Amino acid sequence: MPIQRRQWSNWAGTAKATPQRVHRPRSAAEIAEVVAGVAEAGHRVRALGSGHSFTAIAAADSDALDLAAWTGIERADLETQQVTVRSGTTLRTLNAALDALGLAMTNLGDIDAQTIAGAISTGTHGTGARFGGISTQIVALELVLADGSVARCSADERPELFHAARVGLGALGVISTVTLQCEPSFVLSAQERPEPLEQVLEGFDDNAANNDHFEFYWFPYGAKALVKRNNRLPVDAERKPLSRLKQFVDYELTENVAFGGLCRLGRAVPKLVRPLGAFASQVSSPREYSDLSHRVFVTHRGVRFVESEYAVPRESVLDVLAELRTVVPRLKDPVAFPVEVRVAAADDIWLSTANGRDSAYIAIHQFLGMPYREYFSAFENVVGQVGGRPHWGKMHDLDASVLRTRYPHFDDFLRIRKECDPAGTFANTYLDRVLGSA
Ligand SMILES: Cc1cc2nc3c(=O)[nH]c(=O)nc-3n(C[C@H](O)[C@H](O)[C@H](O)COP(=O)(O)OP(=O)(O)OC[C@H]3O[C@@H](n4cnc5c(N)ncnc54)[C@H](O)[C@@H]3O)c2cc1C
Repeated sequence: MPIQRRQWSNWAGTAKATPQRVHRPRSAAEIAEVVAGVAEAGHRVRALGSGHSFTAIAAADSDALDLAAWTGIERADLETQQVTVRSGTTLRTLNAALDALGLAMTNLGDIDAQTIAGAISTGTHGTGARFGGISTQIVALELVLADGSVARCSADERPELFHAARVGLGALGVISTVTLQCEPSFVLSAQERPEPLEQVLEGFDDNAANNDHFEFYWFPYGAKALVKRNNRLPVDAERKPLSRLKQFVDYELTENVAFGGLCRLGRAVPKLVRPLGAFASQVSSPREYSDLSHRVFVTHRGVRFVESEYAVPRESVLDVLAELRTVVPRLKDPVAFPVEVRVAAADDIWLSTANGRDSAYIAIHQFLGMPYREYFSAFENVVGQVGGRPHWGKMHDLDASVLRTRYPHFDDFLRIRKECDPAGTFANTYLDRVLGSA
């Protein structure tokens, strides 16, 4: 029995919806039953992840599928290291379950609150010049299509559906299981330290090439960037995790409590934002540690913000950052949050932001409640000049007419969508904008 009308809002509070009915299936057969029923009634349905997209991509006006009761590992093959996971499983639960099997995901983003299906549906990624986003780790998917049938796809089975559905925006069907190519557990050795921005920019190519997972945070108004270099070691390498106290002081107190305090102060007294930003860029202390990979990849984000992120061709990242550095000082309102810069290898997934090109990701943020529109739109203009592609789960203003020019396989995706969902059962307002009406 579905729950009648329930208010829904995303993590940042930037998208809200009131689905008429919320269904909570407990099996793949129940997912298929709900989808077929919704389609037959002429309603629309969206699968809900953890609500961590900043856009309204998950917003459901008619029916919503809450997959919180459809979790866990269904099958694990230790020989091939392939693991089939139910779509509502969060990355946190998945990482713990993989740990217990002696396995790990090859690459992860900054947090682990997302569901596996939500993460892959928007193209969630981490960093690493030789590595792709989470969707590149998929070897097979099972989806419930609009007629309630179950489609299985992989590189060999329905390959076009596989190209489309690995970053499918929830537009093709409801993913019931995801099979991932994992690898033996490994350790990451982390080095994090502030470095002069000019030096970081000059050394960008070398840093990206010579570290497995390289990224940096640039504090607008600050002369320094916080640089993170994570490098892979075998699982039996000596581990030197941060002590609980250091973890608490460095991450909870400094990055969440103290940084949140600075942001609140800046929001109350905007003229303090610039000096506070310059101060924040100076105070982060260097640290080195090592631990199991997911404990290093993932951090806790306690301070809420809004975000836009674009993938740009790797070779244009320095030009984009140079342009952004001229834009920020001209904004009417100051920027309280750092810019995050990451890298990823080219892949072949049709709507992946790294499709066909080695990419750099530039993510801009603003503290929740502070003005951001002028900043985000100026950023969109800058990245637009180099064919930037917006993260599907982060804020942007592009529509299908522009996105078609940025993705060589955009129309292939629409063709598969038409085949899987001819009546637009999985559509919502956001998809109408970015893909066009179904
Ligand atoms: C604090 C924070 C940090 C973040 N860090 C990163 C990062 O490091 N890297 C990065 O790339 N992104 C990052 N993101 C963005 C985030 O990873 C994505 O927006 C992701 O899609 C959120 O996953 P979710 O489970 O919350 O999905 P939701 O936002 O709830 O849904 C996303 C989409 O997935 C669809 N979906 C969910 N389940 C299914 C299913 N079973 N079948 C079909 N479609 C489905 C939904 O309908 C929707 O279209 C971050 C976001 C936040 C708030």
